[in-house]
Amino acid sequence: MRFASQHIAILGAGRSGLGAARLARLHGAEVTIFDEGEKAKPVEDFNCVLGQAARDLVVKPGEFQQVIISPGLDEHWPLPKKFTDAGVPLVGETEFAFHLTDMPMAAITGTNGKSTCTELIAALFNGCGMKSLPCGNHGVSLSEVVASGVRYDVLALEISSFQLETIRDFRAKATLWLNFAPDHLDRYPNMEAYFAAKARVFENVTADDVAIVRAGESVSSGAAQRWTFSAYDEEAGYTYNAGSFYHLGEEIGSASGLKLRGKHNMENVLAALMTGRVFGLEYSKMLKAMESYEPPRHRCELVRTLHDREYINDSKATNLHALEACLRSQERPIVLIAGGKDKELDYRPLRAELNGQVRAMVLIGEIAEQLKQTFGDLLPCQCATDMAEAVRLATEVSQAGDAIILSPGTSSFDMYTGYAQRGDVFREAVYALN
Ligand code: ADP
Repeated sequence: MRFASQHIAILGAGRSGLGAARLARLHGAEVTIFDEGEKAKPVEDFNCVLGQAARDLVVKPGEFQQVIISPGLDEHWPLPKKFTDAGVPLVGETEFAFHLTDMPMAAITGTNGKSTCTELIAALFNGCGMKSLPCGNHGVSLSEVVASGVRYDVLALEISSFQLETIRDFRAKATLWLNFAPDHLDRYPNMEAYFAAKARVFENVTADDVAIVRAGESVSSGAAQRWTFSAYDEEAGYTYNAGSFYHLGEEIGSASGLKLRGKHNMENVLAALMTGRVFGLEYSKMLKAMESYEPPRHRCELVRTLHDREYINDSKATNLHALEACLRSQERPIVLIAGGKDKELDYRPLRAELNGQVRAMVLIGEIAEQLKQTFGDLLPCQCATDMAEAVRLATEVSQAGDAIILSPGTSSFDMYTGYAQRGDVFREAVYALN
């Protein structure tokens, strides 16, 4: 009973908070969950302080021995500060769970490709007979997994910059750095702060650990061995070229059986193969295991082909880097539907990527006008008030043989509950066409 006679506060009544609460109780603690949200709901049979009651909270010194913070909260916000000001040690949910398990982990971070890689890696291990689960920032929280008592051979742990903000000792046997590009400038004061939070993933790695890093990334991988990959740079240790994967120039397998498309996804496959290598798996078995993996929805997903036009849903492209990856993976001329919430990102770098490949743009959301100003001199741009209109306008300006792509390049919260709803609305609008 590691926490017997401790009173532990949990901040956040979501999946991370729930997992941490279960885990703390399992180890003998008395638990109270706090959440300031108006819509926060009680969690199982735990003692919960929610909404206004949480906002009115006064924390007395000595009342709590630890406070566990969910990644959705910033430690500088008023609620966490009430605890730290009262001298309560603050621990991140991932860090908390990390200390209560010895299961080996592959930690996956990057601006784009985390979900795809996390799922792919879990599928790869399971297909090769090693029990694995996608978790962390993806589906179940690490605390939930550890609290469940189920033993996995390797956890595929997606870890976001928000989770990394509060680590102290966290490390993984394999740490993947997929890529880095500007994002989340609504949470971080600048790009350096976002980078610094992410780069902490390598803070505690040892010489026995492996850092799997995209070639050309400027991040330091600390004491770990550094293995590089790229689908663009032949100098990397692991490369992809014209349908095949290579290690130090030697072919290790073919992509022909995979359902994933686009060079960016080939980089995800390379990173997954390298992760399997860290745990001693064979390339041929790993590739076989990945053949049954279906690409997740809303990520360059082909929705429908109508009148020789392909309608593609890439609603998950919530930053410019993902949008660019999507454009690069297409061979057809494109009509692009983009726009959404104002995340204060700079879209001008996209001018160089349009290359005559994008025929026209239809712009939606808060930043529609701003995007029209940015690209209007290069190609025809129209603004639409909703998705149905956007799909209709895009279809009107398209030609047979085109791809009509929703790849917004920003988040959706100005119009939708999230990227999934935005993608579903796009799918419906496409299916309504005749
Ligand atoms: P994340 O979980 O990091 O947001 P996803 O796998 O959900 O990553 O993909 C997010 C977006 O990035 C999608 O639009 C997808 O097509 C694109 N993407 C996926 N992998 C990569 C990659 N390796 N490089 C660039 N873009 C990618």
